Amino acid sequence: VDHYLARIDEHQHLNVFTEVYADGARTQADAVDQKLASGTAGRLAGMVIGIKDVLSYKDHGLRAGSRILDKFTAQFTATAIQRLLDDDVIIIGRQNCDEFAMGSSNENSAFGPVRNAADPSRVPGGSSGGSAVAVQAGLCLASIGSDTGGSVRQPAAFCGVVGLKPTYGRISRWGLIAYASSFDCIGPIANTVEDAALLLEIMAGPDDFDSTVSSQPVQAYSQEQLPNRPLRIAYLRDGVESPGIDASIREATQRKLDDLRAAGHTVEPVDLSLLQYLLPTYYILTTAEASSNLSRFDGVRYGYRSQSDASDVSTLDLLSLYKKSRTEGFGAEVRRRILLGTFALSASYYDAYYTKAQQVRRLIRQETERVFEHYDFLLSPTTPTPAFKLGEKTGDPLQMYLADIFTVQANVVGYPAISIPNGSDGDLPIGIQLMAPPFAEGALVALAKEMQ
Ligand code: GLN
Repeated sequence: VDHYLARIDEHQHLNVFTEVYADGARTQADAVDQKLASGTAGRLAGMVIGIKDVLSYKDHGLRAGSRILDKFTAQFTATAIQRLLDDDVIIIGRQNCDEFAMGSSNENSAFGPVRNAADPSRVPGGSSGGSAVAVQAGLCLASIGSDTGGSVRQPAAFCGVVGLKPTYGRISRWGLIAYASSFDCIGPIANTVEDAALLLEIMAGPDDFDSTVSSQPVQAYSQEQLPNRPLRIAYLRDGVESPGIDASIREATQRKLDDLRAAGHTVEPVDLSLLQYLLPTYYILTTAEASSNLSRFDGVRYGYRSQSDASDVSTLDLLSLYKKSRTEGFGAEVRRRILLGTFALSASYYDAYYTKAQQVRRLIRQETERVFEHYDFLLSPTTPTPAFKLGEKTGDPLQMYLADIFTVQANVVGYPAISIPNGSDGDLPIGIQLMAPPFAEGALVALAKEMQ
């Protein structure tokens, strides 16, 4: 703990932690010491982790990178976090992220941007940017993030670490602040596939507090081996051939494909005819869900309340209290998405946008299922470019959304996917992504281990 606290101190300029639990972590470490001495320590004894600022940890601050949760304290602990604590993990702090996990660069945080440790003039990716840089810069051993459209895998790729998004429903969402409930997944970020797998197997499994969580048995993912036969691996043709992808990423991906072929696996290109509809589908459905989920932040029940009204209760008009609190409390990107989502759900446009996007989601799922009738894995670059400069895409949300072109599919269909490091372009890390069928995390992790 002292080692990590010193490193956190030396790396303040990266703006990774929004709160450091120095005393709490030391107290936890003492307790773990005693358990180790008495032989009662859990599987994670001594593992120091950080948690993204969207995960509830009882009696600790919780802000979702937002002003609207100003001074809010978590009332209970997320199931996933409680399971890690039960196995004696040590939590060293709360990590900066895009506001309500909306973003691809960690520039949408009320706490200011996080910087990439490989090049501090560049973004770490988002929305779990703080969580990825924490592992990259050695400020903790692993982090717990959330992934709605790539928020664990894309920053992992930008920072040269491992990011794992499990199958939808594999880990309980209880205690995760909701962004888009039918997409949201909790996922680990770590230095190695083994660490990510171990964290997954401890967090996964049924929970009475989340009815969408699966009762499928949890395997010992960290121990899984590949079957002793050649694998059938599809890769996204666009990921290695499209001129829209950086040359360094196309070449690094191609090299990996050659290695897999040399190891005796079948490696073949596939085309997704619906690729161009992935981002529109994702952004219509997630903004619709977000507009509903974020309606609870009204200036009354949680955190921030506009001072202009609260100062004089006698003149308080409820509607203007809501409006002022939400206008002042939410940042620009969150407001944009609430408005987009409200529009997509409005009576006159519901069928044209929301219903249509639901239909396309089903078609994307069917097309993905067809790919997995013939293949065990689907491989692609994690991102089309390495980490970009701070400020480079903030003026153009559509450019920013393109950073997720390869990651959103797994969330649209609910499949598990992992990003592992795949070399670099100069100093800038490159990631490669593997996707597997639902609940095939064991095989996913086993192949990723072989490739890392
Ligand atoms: N960058 C994507 C978005 O802004 C994904 C975010 C996430 O996975 N939470 O929605």
